[in-house]
Amino acid sequence: MTRGPVAEVDLSAIAHNLHTIRKIVKDRPVIAVVKADAYGHGAIEVSKKLLEEGISYLAVAFTGEAKELRNAGINVPIIVLFDRAEIKDFFDLQLIPVISNTETALSLSNEAKKRAAIIKVHIKIDTGMGRLGLNGHDVFKEIITISKMPYIEIEGLLSHFSEADLSDRSFANQQLERFNAVRESISKKIKRKIFSHIANSAAVLTFEESHLDAVRPGIMLYGYSPIKSMERRAKSRESEKNKPQAIDLIPAMTIKNRLLYIRNVPSGTPVSYGRTFITKRQSRIGVLAIGYADGYSRLFSNKAEVLVRGKRAPIVGRVCMDLTMIDLTDIEEARENDEVVIIGQQGDEKITADELADKANTISYEILTSLGNRSRRIYVENH
Ligand SMILES: *Cc1c(COP(=O)(O)O)cnc(C)c1O
Repeated sequence: MTRGPVAEVDLSAIAHNLHTIRKIVKDRPVIAVVKADAYGHGAIEVSKKLLEEGISYLAVAFTGEAKELRNAGINVPIIVLFDRAEIKDFFDLQLIPVISNTETALSLSNEAKKRAAIIKVHIKIDTGMGRLGLNGHDVFKEIITISKMPYIEIEGLLSHFSEADLSDRSFANQQLERFNAVRESISKKIKRKIFSHIANSAAVLTFEESHLDAVRPGIMLYGYSPIKSMERRAKSRESEKNKPQAIDLIPAMTIKNRLLYIRNVPSGTPVSYGRTFITKRQSRIGVLAIGYADGYSRLFSNKAEVLVRGKRAPIVGRVCMDLTMIDLTDIEEARENDEVVIIGQQGDEKITADELADKANTISYEILTSLGNRSRRIYVENH
């Protein structure tokens, strides 16, 4: 499918961001999260780049995603964070399942027995995210039960933070304490240390005690800090302390578009559905080949801006399915077919996924996956 927008992904920026992470976590192994097609950046290309940089592990959400990576010849260990559907795939593709209940462990053990194999698993503990993982009072007993299954080898232990991106870290602290308590009692019982990981990007940045044996960042690899959304939420909770410092990350994704048409219209002309914008002067209205079908949210109507000739042009009227209008009256040099930057830099101006996220009351993650996964991607190395 070829539609309007192009996502230009800078793979050298991703390598740079990995180095930044490694510096912060003092060269602990990095489990690179490449779920949702690497947050819209393309999992195969991103993973190949990370492989060149000597990544230890990749993590995906579902086995189908891992299959695509294996088919592309990627043979680093892959952790499957959520899926339990295709038990056979874990063996055929040599994937590492994350186990959230004893039932899944048992099916894996049975399949392993049939194949006369031993399967390495990571066990997930719900320490407060309330999504997946062993929970309740029997966590310890359940892990011991799993550890006794003859064809299962517990290689790792993990958990996930629900709000490590807040300056108030009391809940994250509680989660880490719960996690540490489980892993210490398990280690004692089975008489070995278990490879443990809990830190997402927010924890990589703000919570050193949680770095443990490996870290599991996603958004940072793509050049964004979750702290931005933290600041926003922290503000609404009125805790302005602990302002985070600048971090050396380079956004990897640029979203580009073309100016399809420029139309000259008189003052008083309504623009787009519902006449939410009416020109107040003789205007030049640009029509862009991007719309909400491309992941450019309708919430950007009359709110967001794009870059044309290095200047900011406001969206006017509602974003349509395939088209979006902008006001070019103040950018006289703009011409049809000009390159338009939706996210990224042009001249001295820059629009980030965080800026767009603010406009739509969401987070950079949603902006990147929405636009990145629906645009035609090209790969560059600019750094
Ligand atoms: C998505 C995800 C991550 C990465 O989170 P970021 O905030 O992008 O760093 C880590 N662990 C799990 C279980 C996840 O689902």
